[in-house]
Amino acid sequence: MVSLQFYGVRGSHPVADAKMARYGGNTPCVVLLKTNRAGLKVPVILDAGSGLIPLGYCMASKFFTHEYSQIFSIMFTHLHPDHTEGFNFFTPNFFSFCTIYLMGMQTLKRHVGIILKEKMVPPTFPIEYKDLKSNKEHRILHDGQVFHIDQNGRPSAKTDQPLFIIHVMQAFAPSHPQQGALYYKIVDPDDNTAIVCVWDIESHIGGDVRVINFAQGADVLIHDTMYTDEEYVNPKTPVQGFGHSTYSMAIENAEKSGVKYLIPFHYNPRHNDDFLDAVRKKYQNKHAFSFIMSYEGLELTFDKGNIIRQADVKQGFSP
Ligand SMILES: [Zn+2]
Ligand SMILES: [Zn+2]
Repeated sequence: MVSLQFYGVRGSHPVADAKMARYGGNTPCVVLLKTNRAGLKVPVILDAGSGLIPLGYCMASKFFTHEYSQIFSIMFTHLHPDHTEGFNFFTPNFFSFCTIYLMGMQTLKRHVGIILKEKMVPPTFPIEYKDLKSNKEHRILHDGQVFHIDQNGRPSAKTDQPLFIIHVMQAFAPSHPQQGALYYKIVDPDDNTAIVCVWDIESHIGGDVRVINFAQGADVLIHDTMYTDEEYVNPKTPVQGFGHSTYSMAIENAEKSGVKYLIPFHYNPRHNDDFLDAVRKKYQNKHAFSFIMSYEGLELTFDKGNIIRQADVKQGFSP
């Protein structure tokens, strides 16, 4: 069984606004958790937006109660600030017992660590990357790659009894400026639950055929939904070419790939709780798939590709 938790669901920049507190103001961070043979939960994290900060606090406490593996991965879709800004404040970086595998795209021609290092340089930041106590390993991922996460939480080309099998797809500009982004299909080989993560993508009329093929037969599609149709083609402030999708585009990709669950994600920072509630009412119960709005604290647990538990595990910044 795999659990999926949302720590940041907002795109572009964090928002601190009481009208957005229910869905949450943190930028993208999602974690998958699965229990290994030793009885530890192994985190696989997608993106290091500001949602990574409260996740880090949670993980620190779970290390001390021996619930979470101290070896884990962060897979980056790309390195725009809303997907990296939480890393500088990620508590596990201050523990020498942690080993973190940082994975990002080949197109940048450098591994993620080199780029994160450039973000942590005095005088613009007080701590340097090299001074972080965690052990950091770097991996470069490419389009079409398939790899495993082993029982110890380490990425590996192939292993017996993998915890997860990860498929990688890269889309290039104009899907998302400038180097595109990586999208992931994460499969739990024990029960074949497949979760596809596709954000920071501008789909197309008729659907994004590569995404539809990539997500074909999966159970869950977490998809970029930055805009409404009206915003996308607003004659005064059109956002075509900005690298993000509308709800209609996400729905089209979900329908054509045949997933069971569509989870809208990477919300517009101008869309408040009431607005997102109206979006939910407009689209839920209208399709063959379930339409489940993501929010900070949402936890979904899957068995054989079906949600068997939905819980609220909201983890704020305060203890
Ligand atoms: Zn983004
Ligand atoms: Zn981006």
